[in-house]
Amino acid sequence: MRPGSSGPEAGSNARPLAGEVDVLVVGAGVTGIYQLHRAREAGFSTLLLEAGGGVGGTWFWNRYPGARFDSESYTYGYLFSRELFDEWEWQEHFAAQPETERYLNHVVDRFDLRRDMRFDAAVTAADYDDATGTWTVSVADGSTYRARYLVAATGVLSVPFFPDIPGRDDFRGASFHTGRWPAAPVDLAGKRVAVIGTGSSGVQIVPAIAGEVASLTVYQRTANWCTPLNNTPITTDEQARLRADFEAMRETLNTSAHGFLHDAHDRGAFDDSDDERRAFYERMWASPGFSKLTSNYLDLLFDEAANDTWCAFLADKIRGIVRDPDVAEKLIPKDHRFGEHRPPFVTGYYEAFNNANVSLVATKQTPIVRMTETGIETTEGLREFDVVIWATGFDFGTGALLRMGVRGRDGLALADHWADGPSTYLGIQTAGFPNFFFPGGPHAAAGNNPRYNGDQVDFVTDAIVYVREHGFDTIEPEPAAEEAWTAMIDRNAARKPSFGSSSYYFGSNVPGKPRKYLLNAAGRPKLFEMIAEIVASDYQPFILSRTSDVESEAASR
Ligand code: NAP
Repeated sequence: MRPGSSGPEAGSNARPLAGEVDVLVVGAGVTGIYQLHRAREAGFSTLLLEAGGGVGGTWFWNRYPGARFDSESYTYGYLFSRELFDEWEWQEHFAAQPETERYLNHVVDRFDLRRDMRFDAAVTAADYDDATGTWTVSVADGSTYRARYLVAATGVLSVPFFPDIPGRDDFRGASFHTGRWPAAPVDLAGKRVAVIGTGSSGVQIVPAIAGEVASLTVYQRTANWCTPLNNTPITTDEQARLRADFEAMRETLNTSAHGFLHDAHDRGAFDDSDDERRAFYERMWASPGFSKLTSNYLDLLFDEAANDTWCAFLADKIRGIVRDPDVAEKLIPKDHRFGEHRPPFVTGYYEAFNNANVSLVATKQTPIVRMTETGIETTEGLREFDVVIWATGFDFGTGALLRMGVRGRDGLALADHWADGPSTYLGIQTAGFPNFFFPGGPHAAAGNNPRYNGDQVDFVTDAIVYVREHGFDTIEPEPAAEEAWTAMIDRNAARKPSFGSSSYYFGSNVPGKPRKYLLNAAGRPKLFEMIAEIVASDYQPFILSRTSDVESEAASR
C-alpha cells in the first residue's frame, strides 16, 4: 500500500471495495507472474487477478495434446534468479505444456506469489478516477478493487477465435478449441475427429493424436511452411554446460535482437554454390526450432529469390515425406513465402498424412459449406465426426484488452480509443489512460516472447518506482509521442522482414478487425534505444503528475 493510504475504503460503487493495492496485475501468465514479482520486490503492495483456475496463462489454457515450446526451454524460462535457473532442470530442449505449467507453478510458490493471486477472477471493467489517480477494477463475481497502477498482462493470444461457419452451433458431438483445452482428460481413442486449422496449434495436435483416433480429417485453409522442431532430451552434460554458461547465456538473451541463442549466419543465399546451399539447407532442416529463421542466410527475409531457394528445398522435403503426391502438393504453400507467416515447427506432422486414418481437406479447393448436427459439409459432401477440434487461432494482440471494459480519463473506452487499431507508446501505455500498462500486448516486438515481455515489465517497474520516488501519482505518455511511435510501427510494418499482410499479425484472421500491424517490426533494438533515452531524460516524454494538481485545476475551473 502507498505510504499514507488507509485500508480498504468504500468507493463510488454500490459494492464495497474488497481491497486497495498499489499494483494490480491482470493475468497469471509468464508476463503477469514476472510483473507481480518485480512489483512486490520493489516494495509495492500487489494483487493479481486471473480468469483461469490456475497459474500459466497460455500454458494453462493451451493444454491440447502436443502443445509444447518452440523456443528452447532454458531461453524461455525466467533469468532473473540464478538460483531458480540452477534448481529447475528442464527435461527437453523444447518442453511440453505439462512441464511448463509445473515450472510456472514452481516459480509462483518459490517466490511466494500465490498469496497475492486470485483465480477464477475475470475482470469485467476497469475505470480510471482522475481525482484520485486510481483504477477501480471489477470482477465477474461482483467484487471490486482499487489500485494505483493497473498492469494488464493479458497476453496477445488469449481470446480464442471461432470462424463464423454456418451451423457452427448445430454440431452435437464434442467440440474443443486448442486455446481452451479442458484440464480433465479428453478421450479421443477410437473417435472420428476433425481438426480445423493448420497454424502452430493445429500442426502440433495432428501428429499427437493421429495414432489413437479412428479417423482424423484435417481441414486446411492455408498451408504453412512447417519445418522440424528437432526436439531432444537435455543430457546430463548439457545440463552441466547450461549451468556453467549461465551468465554468458543470460547476457546474450538479454541483449540479442530476437531473444534466442542461435548464431546469425554471415552469408547470403547466392554467396554459395547450389551444392553448398543444399548442404547448408540440410543442416538448417536438422537444426533446432527457430534457428531456421534466425540462423538462415542473411538475405532470406529480404530477397525473394533467396527465399525461393529455401521454399523450393522445403517443398522437395514435403514431397519426399508425404507418399500421396496430391496430398503433398496441397501441403506445400503456394501463396506466401517462408517467414511471411509465423512459421510452425513440427514433430511428425507431414509423416502423419501417411497414416491410412489421416486425410486432408484443402478448404480453398473444397470449401466448408456448413456444420451439421453430425459433422462438416463441404462442397464434396458431409463427413461425420464424434469430435471437432478448433485450431482456428486467436483474436490476436488486442483481443483480451478490448474485452476488459477499460475506461480511462473522462470515461474514454479503450475500445473506442482503439476503434481503428491500437495506438501505443512503446507498446506499453496509451495516452488518456494514466497508470495503465500492458506489457506483452500490442506493439510488442516479435521473437522469444518472455524476453521481450520481460523488457517491458522491467521498464514498467522502473517507471513506477521513479514516479513514487519523485512524489508523483500518475504517469502517461504524451499524445505526440504515442503518435510518433505508432506511425513508426505502421511504417515499419510494410518493410522487410516484417510479416506479410496476410499474416494474423495484421488482425487479418478476424472479420471486421482493423488491418493494423499488431507487433513492433523495429523490434527489440528500437525498444532498448528508446528506453535508454527515456531513462536518461527523466522519463520524458511521459507526463508525470500529482493528483493534487488535478484537484487544484478542477477547483480553478
Ligand atoms: P493460427 O496460427 O492463427 O492458425 C489458425 C488456423 O485456423 C489457420 O490455419 C487458419 O487458416 C485456420 N482457420 C481460421 N478460420 C478458418 C476457417 N474458416 N476454415 C478453415 N481454417 C480456418 O492459430 P494457432 O495455430 O493457434 O497459433 C497461434 C499462435 O500461437 C502461433 O502463431 C504461435 O505464435 C502461438 N503458438 C505457439 C506454439 C508453439 O509451438 N510454441 C504452439 C501453438 C501456438 P488461415 O491461415 O487461412 O487463416
